[in-house]
Amino acid sequence: MPSHQVSLSDRAPIALIRSLLESPRQLSKRGPSIFPEELAARAGIGLVLAAAISLVAMRARDLSPDGAAAAIVLGTVCAAAGWDWAFLLLVMFLAGTAVSRFRSPSKNVRVANMMEKGGHRDAAQVLANGGLLALAAAGSIVDPSPYWFGIGAGAIAASAADTFATEIGTLVTSLPRSIVSGQPVATGESGGVTWQGTCAALGGATVIAAAALIAQWPHEAIVGAVAGGFSGAMIDSVLGATVQMRRWCSRCGRETERRVHGCGANTLHSRGFAWLDNDGVNALSSLGGGIIGMLFLL
Ligand SMILES: [Zn+2]
Repeated sequence: MPSHQVSLSDRAPIALIRSLLESPRQLSKRGPSIFPEELAARAGIGLVLAAAISLVAMRARDLSPDGAAAAIVLGTVCAAAGWDWAFLLLVMFLAGTAVSRFRSPSKNVRVANMMEKGGHRDAAQVLANGGLLALAAAGSIVDPSPYWFGIGAGAIAASAADTFATEIGTLVTSLPRSIVSGQPVATGESGGVTWQGTCAALGGATVIAAAALIAQWPHEAIVGAVAGGFSGAMIDSVLGATVQMRRWCSRCGRETERRVHGCGANTLHSRGFAWLDNDGVNALSSLGGGIIGMLFLL
């Protein structure tokens, strides 16, 4: 084997383990190359861990089968980029699951006829919430630039902030008000905000910022997580109030976001973009959070 090539067999196991624990940022300080065998080893370990966690979550009904498959893909990509990326994804998943489970039966009753989905997360929800983090992780593999940390932190913080705001906001007994018109709206309706949910959004963004701090990400990315996360949740509410799809149940004479209403009747598109459902709005607000997060690294 030519001497200039670095391969697994040439390096002591301790050195390999040490380099596996390093993020691409640290690797990039050593030189432009990311060793392919380290990437493959992390991806392999990430695949096994992500599969184990996703199967447990599927059995606990936190993820649907296609949601578990999507989570395995995201986990593998993030682990390949570095344990710091996988850690942020895991924190989002655990915090989101915990806050969703918190007093879940009473929330389900309150929003059953309004919200599009409840209970376990499907692939569209998983990708809308974690897809941009995994894309930024993949970008950092191709080109080790600090911008990816800002994009990833802001994007996943926006998803965490929106999840916290939704899950805490729907527990509040007072009626939410539209973020645009200020008029009272039904609990669980997109675009409605409460002060408790708004505080929870800041809390969700702060959880991701703390994770980024533990992962030793650049300070700008930690600030970007708070700013991008909170702004992302606000973007989510504005889009939810204005352009998100709404449907009408003619049997009940009520507006809803569900394609099939709680009464069993099919619903008709009434306002907003017919193609822009809650997952689409989540993906857009995650993108908004990622862009704002990136601005802090310029
Ligand atoms: Zn109905």
